[in-house]
Amino acid sequence: MPMNIAIDGPAGAGKSTAARMVAEKFGYIYVDTGAMYRAMALYMLREGIDPADQEAVEAACGAADISLEYRDGVQQVLLNGENVTHEIRTAGVSRTASAVSAYGAVRVKLVELQRKLAGRRDVVMDGRDIGTAVLPNADLKVYLTASAHVRALRRFKELSAAGQADVSLDGVEAEITARDKQDMERTISPLKRAEDAVLLDTSDMSLEQVVSELEELIEDAGSRGCCGC
Ligand code: C5P
Repeated sequence: MPMNIAIDGPAGAGKSTAARMVAEKFGYIYVDTGAMYRAMALYMLREGIDPADQEAVEAACGAADISLEYRDGVQQVLLNGENVTHEIRTAGVSRTASAVSAYGAVRVKLVELQRKLAGRRDVVMDGRDIGTAVLPNADLKVYLTASAHVRALRRFKELSAAGQADVSLDGVEAEITARDKQDMERTISPLKRAEDAVLLDTSDMSLEQVVSELEELIEDAGSRGCCGC
């Protein structure tokens, strides 16, 4: 049975960086499920479909073929065969992803793809509902969070470093808080900590500390799942 590690948490908690690093250390693949919802959002934006129109989004989502590929170990997201890995990292796509991910037909389609990947390979998968809905029997579940202010500060530094001078810290915090609210209050698979998830508040932790904590948890989970050899 492949090892399945589920990492959930709100936007900007540092899930993807830490998950990618531990996946590399253990030789697992890293699956960023948010990127799949972002690719779906990009499809709707390109098609001119209103993200608030559930019926239209659900009718159109079947035509969006989303798949993942790995180049030198780095996840690439393909939308109908086109590599959209970089294009999905905009604030507009983040907002639209949060809106369209609330719809059942979108989730059914992407969850199926996520489960297929986890059934075949050892994975560290991050998202919002991995421990609660996608992989309820994961070998390890972690809920990674930090205060809204710390998460906004981290995201703001990333955006500033990437040359996006048109953003303010307050703006980033408002955006993150609005997205979390939407993700936590939706009816289907809302963002919440699974009962059996280890809670990791990273507000006062460095990336190195988070990674080392995750590595320990994965090692423990691996030895629990082992036959005792
Ligand atoms: O993780 P990321 O910020 O890229 O995710 C973008 C959006 O996709 C989230 O705000 C959330 O609405 C949605 N998402 C989800 N379920 C997941 C992963 C992401 O609903 N497993």
